[in-house]
Amino acid sequence: MPVSRLSSKLPKVGTTIFTVMSQLAAEHHAVNLGQGFPDFPPPQGLVEGLERAMRAGHNQYAAAHGIPELRRAIADKTERCYGFRPDVDAGITVTSGASEAILDAVAAVVHAGDEVIVLDPCYDCYEPAIELAGGTAVHVPLDPETFAPDWDAVRAAITPRTRLLMVNTPHNPSGAMLDATDMEAIAALLRGNDILLLSDEVYEHIVFDGRRHESALRYPELRERAFVVSSFGKTYHCTGWKVGYCVAPPALTAEFRKVHQYNTFCTFTPAQHAFATMIAEDPAHYEELGAFYQAKRDRFREQLLGTKLRPLDVPGGYFQLVDYSAVSDLDDQEFCRWLTVEHGVATIPLSPFYARPPEGQRLARLCFAKSESTLDAAIERLRKL
Ligand code: PMP
Ligand code: GLN
Repeated sequence: MPVSRLSSKLPKVGTTIFTVMSQLAAEHHAVNLGQGFPDFPPPQGLVEGLERAMRAGHNQYAAAHGIPELRRAIADKTERCYGFRPDVDAGITVTSGASEAILDAVAAVVHAGDEVIVLDPCYDCYEPAIELAGGTAVHVPLDPETFAPDWDAVRAAITPRTRLLMVNTPHNPSGAMLDATDMEAIAALLRGNDILLLSDEVYEHIVFDGRRHESALRYPELRERAFVVSSFGKTYHCTGWKVGYCVAPPALTAEFRKVHQYNTFCTFTPAQHAFATMIAEDPAHYEELGAFYQAKRDRFREQLLGTKLRPLDVPGGYFQLVDYSAVSDLDDQEFCRWLTVEHGVATIPLSPFYARPPEGQRLARLCFAKSESTLDAAIERLRKL
């Protein structure tokens, strides 16, 4: 077929806003607080572990579902954190990032014509995964200021075709977190029907002010129908290694693995060895991650008070939302472009995370997973607005 007649399976998809803003940042030598990645190194022990694994000869295909040492380490960590031990053999799959896990889970359970409920603003890879599977994303908005879910609106969006509900806590882009009442509300919504849950928990260890991360794995009624997805990229400051995992009950894991084994077959072997050792030998790293990022959040928010940007609350994750309406009335995409080109600070607009962005919303997302010198340089520029 001539390329001109090829009909796109993803007609709405262009280049992601993360790539667009990182490219613009590079072009204009802007401080990049856009795309979410740390600009400081992973723990030294992890890097050494990776090197050791390669030198020890762990360079060929791994077991498709993940090496047993890593699956055991994930089971131990999950039990320690959430009081539930997933089945090491039949309930954990190591994936090439959370992105792969999300695509696999959706492809495994969503049939053509199914509906999947997502809560807007939602992470940008959800809808394309749903559409590739032949499903339809049903968008239910979160509160535009607090980003709290409206469970009555979710209930109203359920139809006989609803197959899956996707949630994300701590939430990208807002940092909002689901609490125990939310988890009970989800359980009540899903009770008595065959709707599955996909819980995206990549920021599970980055929670602030003594809050508790409400993993779906804490709740028996939820975990028996959930794919719970996480990413070592966030926990270990190595987003480019692309290693994540999915915890799900054996019946769901079996379907998930059918996709995983033909999608990638297995994930980068040496990193699996490095993570297995790191998780087992240094639990303090993930236990102290919240405090590590809380210090960054607090310092950055304090600095933002010296600018015209109004910071919103950040319960978890590594993004600070700011309301820029005291600076500009441009829409968010134009504002973020202007801020990068004219003021040398790259951020992420919120509208690409929505099917229908709220009218008049003037919010930008700033990543504070950066060294102090990077954040200082950004603040110096933002003070001039
Ligand atoms: N979900 C959310 C909410 C994310 O923010 C990200 C990336 N930051 C991912 C999934 C994808 O994670 P990974 O890089 O491990 O594929
Ligand atoms: N998850 C990262 C963010 O939200 C971006 C990852 C990517 O560029 N695909 O910024």
